Amino acid sequence: MTADDVTLADLPLREDLRGRSPYGAPQLDVPIRLNTNENPYPPPPELVDDVAAAVREAAQELHRYPDRDAVALRQDLARYLSASTGVALSERNLWAANGSNEVLQQIMQAFGGPGRTALGFEPSYSMHPIISAGTRTEWVPTPRRADFSLDTAEAAVIVAERRPDIVFVTSPNNPTGGSIPLEELEPVLRAAPGIVVVDEAYAEFSSRRSAVELLDAYPAKLIVSRTMSKAFAFAGGRLGYLAAAPAVVDALQLVRLPYHLSVLTQAAARAALRHADATLASVAKLSAERERVAEALRGLGFIPVPSDANFILFGEFGDAKASWKSYVDAGVLVRDVGIEGHLRVSIGTPEENDAFLAASKEVPR
Ligand code: PMP
Repeated sequence: MTADDVTLADLPLREDLRGRSPYGAPQLDVPIRLNTNENPYPPPPELVDDVAAAVREAAQELHRYPDRDAVALRQDLARYLSASTGVALSERNLWAANGSNEVLQQIMQAFGGPGRTALGFEPSYSMHPIISAGTRTEWVPTPRRADFSLDTAEAAVIVAERRPDIVFVTSPNNPTGGSIPLEELEPVLRAAPGIVVVDEAYAEFSSRRSAVELLDAYPAKLIVSRTMSKAFAFAGGRLGYLAAAPAVVDALQLVRLPYHLSVLTQAAARAALRHADATLASVAKLSAERERVAEALRGLGFIPVPSDANFILFGEFGDAKASWKSYVDAGVLVRDVGIEGHLRVSIGTPEENDAFLAASKEVPR
């Protein structure tokens, strides 16, 4: 037997991981890729130059470990988040990691784990249950309404009954696109006995107020997670962050690996943040395109789910898998998120969106 002959079944894998599938958005080499909710606009040349210069300077210190607590980066993130939400925050309220996925994993490591539960409203971001499984936190799926909106009064009742250690509320929600007003979030916060994570990965695309505004009212419960992957066009840089009470940051430091954010990541993210105004200018363009695409889909007889993120879930398809394949054959990669009769498309450049709409006229329904 060679190394290549060994299969998962031959390994002493944890019982609870047997039979599970890894997270996997197919990454196919097609001309139009609208499947992972990236920002379609590449970083402007000034940002690329600034990142390159910052990384070059940081490289001179590569023989040293980075700042374990990423203080300067957290100060920059606090400045950005304070300016965009109107809430006074300092680096003591901010924590950062390699993508918000790592932030969420650290939250689960600190507040979840064996014997504990995490509850989410599905369909929602598929990594929440996967991270839950990886940290041996029992996942409690709770359905949304048939139109994918969240009945927060009912949600609060379920939370009060089930008493999960962690509640996930994704706003705007991926993959359905809708977001929740703050006044509707509060009953869930009041009912929750433990931590409530509001995953605001797509917040910049929404006109709603951020849950960051509720931090003072629920300091021992609320964590708001964010990312530079979407609006900031920094998905490849891997930088996610959260805002919470300083004590939450202390808790996460118990589980984070030392030096988890490389000196290169910290330098690149700080450089990218210096160009936030230029990068975030794409948000208005993408939001306008989202409305144009939704309207055009309606014109073609599709039913787009109202979205204030940079993607749209739309239907109805008799066989979403077959229709997904037809899009691929037409050179357009959209996402089959496993919701019957529906596909999700990320908003691209106007040209990419036109190609998607042209393909939409031809796909079987
Ligand atoms: N939360 C939500 C709701 C997302 O959709 C995503 C990315 N698809 C993430 C978190 C994680 O993004 P990242 O790790 O790139 O920050």
